[in-house]
Amino acid sequence: MKHATVSIYRAAAIRDAQGASSRPGAVAVKHGRVIASGHPDTLPRRVLKNATFIDRPDDLILPALVNAHTHLDLTALGPTPLQGDFTAWLRHVVKARPSEPKPIIDSVRQGLLLSRQAGVGHLGDIAGSTAAIMGRRQAPREAVVPGVSYLECFGLGQRQASSIHAVENALSDLPFESRIDFHDRGAVLGLGPHAPYSTGLDIYKAANRLSHDRIYRLSTHLAETQEELRFVEHADGPFAELLKELGKWDDAITPTGQHPIPWLEPVLKHARWILAHCNYVEDDHIDILQHTGTSVAYCPVASEYFGHENHRYRDMIEAGVNVCLGTDSILCQPKDEPQPMGIFPQMRRLYRRDQTDPGLLLKMATTNGMLALEFSETDATLQKRAPAVFAAVRIDKDDPLDPLVQALANDNLITPIDATRSGNGDGKS
Ligand SMILES: [Zn+2]
Repeated sequence: MKHATVSIYRAAAIRDAQGASSRPGAVAVKHGRVIASGHPDTLPRRVLKNATFIDRPDDLILPALVNAHTHLDLTALGPTPLQGDFTAWLRHVVKARPSEPKPIIDSVRQGLLLSRQAGVGHLGDIAGSTAAIMGRRQAPREAVVPGVSYLECFGLGQRQASSIHAVENALSDLPFESRIDFHDRGAVLGLGPHAPYSTGLDIYKAANRLSHDRIYRLSTHLAETQEELRFVEHADGPFAELLKELGKWDDAITPTGQHPIPWLEPVLKHARWILAHCNYVEDDHIDILQHTGTSVAYCPVASEYFGHENHRYRDMIEAGVNVCLGTDSILCQPKDEPQPMGIFPQMRRLYRRDQTDPGLLLKMATTNGMLALEFSETDATLQKRAPAVFAAVRIDKDDPLDPLVQALANDNLITPIDATRSGNGDGKS
């Protein structure tokens, strides 16, 4: 075994959400992990010994970003302009999504590649099938993005018991892993009851029970549309019509008189969940999210795509709710977006639309995402021991404007840096 050297990435600037901020900046990597970061002149001498330098003089280096909510198995459908309402869109997805293992696996891998190329280092995927999970876990090295794969489940009314049984069977066929190790390993398992208009409370409770047994992560779509609010409260409206049309309606589906968040509160109280969207919430609901320790994955571009406005992510964060970012599926991304599976475009959207604090956006896009996915927050930073996966954005090093502000204001592509094989002595593992 050769003596391990240190690789030092020198850049115009570095920044993370845990205090690394330097211009110029440097990140030192050994055995594929960060061992130091800061101003190039202040790195410890022991780090500089035996170091090789990689210069990125025009780049801001950030930790790789976290996409807490996406649907990799829909990637093959590509960006798709919205025609009609949400239920029309759902009908389209149900019909057009790949249903055989091979196209599912190809779609997942395409999504993983696009994610990696856009500087995403961890992601939470809603997997519509076990094929989507195995496709991710067995992806070639260039397409590995670690994180969570949430097996999606459906079933309302009298169908719930058989759905739970089917989920248990599917899980028993999937090798269980409770943790990801470094950057070479794939995804841990989660459960993703789809949404209140497709999935009953018994399934949510069963997901809680299963998660306690085996530490499955948990995620669902909640409070996404006004039609969903109407369905949960009154059991009527467009979703009731859709269920009847699909032959999935029965008399056990009844009004609850509640908003989806208080409706799900008994479940949220007993396990940690990530809720995708939460486009329609009142103050009381934010309180429930806060006291149950629930995370929210906000997908700004997807929310806009469906016409939802005034998302309360800043109120949620102020109230102590962990809010992270997601893309949702590629269908909701603009056709002219060069990095449709990227999280940086989501940050740019919020920066430009809401003038959200750049430091807060970086936190939402990195450590908050890790917290939501239940991984170490440090793993999405430039701090010691973080895996050496970074995202670089070209900036103007002579412009006195803050580098992160520059990166959010410009349209330069994100380039990924995978240094997990750097600092191993021979450049290989
Ligand atoms: Zn989704």
